[in-house]
Amino acid sequence: MNVTNKKGKVYLVGAGPGRPDLITVRGLELLKCADCVIYDKLANPGLLNYARPDAELLAVPKRVGPESFRQEQINNLLVQKAGEGKSVVRLKGGDPYIFGRGTEEAAVLAQAGIDFEVVPGVTAALAASCYSGIALTDRALASEVIFVTGHEAEGKQQTGIDWRLLAKFTGTIVFYMGMENLNDITRLLIENGVSPETPSAVVADATLPTQKFVKATLATIADRCAKNKITPPALVFVGPTAAGDARLDWLAELPLFGKTIVVTRDAVGNAEFAAKIAGRMAVTIEMPITKIKTLTDSGDFIKTLAQIKSYDWVIFSSCNGVETFFAALAKLNKDARVFGLAKIAAIGVRTAETLARFGIKADFVPAAFTSKDLAAGLIDFTSLRDKKVLLLRSLIASDDLPQLLESAGASVDNVPVYTHEKNLCDLKPLSEKSIHWLTFASPFVATCFFEQVSVDFVKSKDAKVASIGPVTSKKLAEFGVKIDVEASEHTFDGLLAAIEQYEIRTTNND
Ligand code: SAH
Repeated sequence: MNVTNKKGKVYLVGAGPGRPDLITVRGLELLKCADCVIYDKLANPGLLNYARPDAELLAVPKRVGPESFRQEQINNLLVQKAGEGKSVVRLKGGDPYIFGRGTEEAAVLAQAGIDFEVVPGVTAALAASCYSGIALTDRALASEVIFVTGHEAEGKQQTGIDWRLLAKFTGTIVFYMGMENLNDITRLLIENGVSPETPSAVVADATLPTQKFVKATLATIADRCAKNKITPPALVFVGPTAAGDARLDWLAELPLFGKTIVVTRDAVGNAEFAAKIAGRMAVTIEMPITKIKTLTDSGDFIKTLAQIKSYDWVIFSSCNGVETFFAALAKLNKDARVFGLAKIAAIGVRTAETLARFGIKADFVPAAFTSKDLAAGLIDFTSLRDKKVLLLRSLIASDDLPQLLESAGASVDNVPVYTHEKNLCDLKPLSEKSIHWLTFASPFVATCFFEQVSVDFVKSKDAKVASIGPVTSKKLAEFGVKIDVEASEHTFDGLLAAIEQYEIRTTNND
């Protein structure tokens, strides 16, 4: 153990029920600053992206195979890491104190004299209620709600549940951890006098694109779950409110909910696109069909760098360009001061945000998203006559931008800082699942994809194809691919909007 003077502290943080953005603001702030994150299986792994790059990330899954952790081991780990002077975030699914053994962890910390704070989280029952339209309380139907662990139904001798009392309860009963014992739970309720016709419902994977929601009677809910292959984590609702109200099931109405969408970019680009897809409650299959190759070791780049101060404008057209450029600078032991007084433009808000991470506030960010729009916007913004402009882009970028800038009187140097190459990737995820949509965001990814996957395979999957714009569509057509939608705004949001429109149209026509 490292001995340090810094005093450690443990934050027991509720991660929320499933989708990562249902964590509290306080929880997220602490996560961003933590030295060490100790996380449960139920905490969404996407949350770990918010941790500092140098934070220690420790998974402590319980009850899953040889990697399984006992509660005592977790308690010891918390004490140990805080003892090392670390700020520790203990990330727990849902709320830390609802069936989460959070109080046991807090008690151990208190006993050891370690400072701690507890940050509540949205517990699964609240989330499943809002995401399915089952009210927990209702002025007409349920004045009470009770949360029960379904895990105790087996070991009946020692059960803390009074089934006779529970059977008399007239409000909404929510069972956590009830799936393994669902047959026993329903039997015990019925044996103790609850009507077999009582409305019942199960919500699995609440708040995730994979959410499943089934309704039945108390007597038939277990069978219905088996037929629909419902697996944990899931909650069982019993009581008059469990009949639900179909009008409140807003999730089922989302055009992309539950659809499987394949993204075909480089790994980083895929992750960015996947986050947008998850926001629309669709499932992503990430195929890293290309990879980035940096070109900053070239003589051209080194020469450019030495003269970069002499340019009036430096233009970055992508996050990759910014990342690659600053990685090269760091290697050369230099920083943003190389730009001197040169002004900087960024195509796209994301590119500007990436620049900001390196301490640069872009002087110009066009509202629009294509090279043409950038050129038009920049020409509008400032006179480019006799100005020296440097483009730091991908090798496979179009000639539109330099040509337009030159026609406005600028002298333009185009220096590629990276390129994309084909990446041979594991195609198994494509054959294992049903696929609703394949998305293509450039002619190059289309080529890399159809050099590895046959058009017949796509047809056999009955997958629809979405293209980001006409240039990509042209390439897809060369491979004999039928294009179902083409985005009118050539961005990822535009691509998703086009898919959404298609889904809305076809649902309305059904
Ligand atoms: N502390 C957590 C509960 C942990 S117990 C909370 O406050 O939510 C684990 C049980 O929670 C699971 O067996 C399941 O019943 C429920 N659960 C957790 N996440 C869920 C989800 N996304 N959908 C449905 N049930 C969930």
